Amino acid sequence: MASIAGPEIERLIQLLSKLPGLGPRSARRAALHLVKKREQLLGPLADAMQIARERIITCDTCGNIDTISPCTLCSDTRRDDALLVVVEDVADLWALERATATNGRYHVLGGVLSPLDGIGPKDLALDPLVARVAAGRVKEVILALNATVDGQTTAHYITDLLAPHGVSVTRLAHGVPVGGELDYLDEGTLTAAIRQRTAV
Ligand code: ZN
Repeated sequence: MASIAGPEIERLIQLLSKLPGLGPRSARRAALHLVKKREQLLGPLADAMQIARERIITCDTCGNIDTISPCTLCSDTRRDDALLVVVEDVADLWALERATATNGRYHVLGGVLSPLDGIGPKDLALDPLVARVAAGRVKEVILALNATVDGQTTAHYITDLLAPHGVSVTRLAHGVPVGGELDYLDEGTLTAAIRQRTAV
C-alpha cells in the first residue's frame, strides 16, 4: 500500500497494526482517531504505556502481571489458599477474574505442551507449580486449560505430575454452553456433554 502520510504517522499505523484484532485498515482508523484526539487520548495513552513499560512485572509466585510481586491477587488475604487454579496464560486468568468464577489462587503456566511447536515440560512453569503444591496448603488444583488437544495433553501431564502429592486434581467441565442450543453444537462438544452428564 502506498504511503499516504509522513513516516511518523506511518510508523504509528504500522505498530498499531501489530495489535491483536487490528488489521492495516483498522490500524489506520485507530491512528487517525488517536492523532485527532491528541489531548484526550494520545497523550494519556502514551503516558500509560510509558508507566507500563517501566513498572509492569511478572509475579514471581503465580506468573500474573502486575506492578508488584507477589501480585495483587497473591497478596489478597481473602482468597482461598486451598484452591489453586492452573491456567495457560494471563488472558485466561483475567477471563476467570472477570467472571468472578473462583476465589482461589492462580498459577500461570506460560503455555501448554505442544510437541509440534517444540514446547516441552521445561518450557512451562511446572516446577514452581509442583513446589507450590508440595508446600502443603493447596487441597485442590483446578486445571482451567483450553479444551484443545494440547490443553488436554497438558492436563493429563499435570495430573500425573501431581499424583504423588495427594491433592485433588479437577478440570473444567466440557459441554453445553450456558444459553446454548444442542442443534448448533459440534459432535465433540455434544459427546463430551453426554459423557460428563450430572444428576439433577
Ligand atoms: Zn501472583
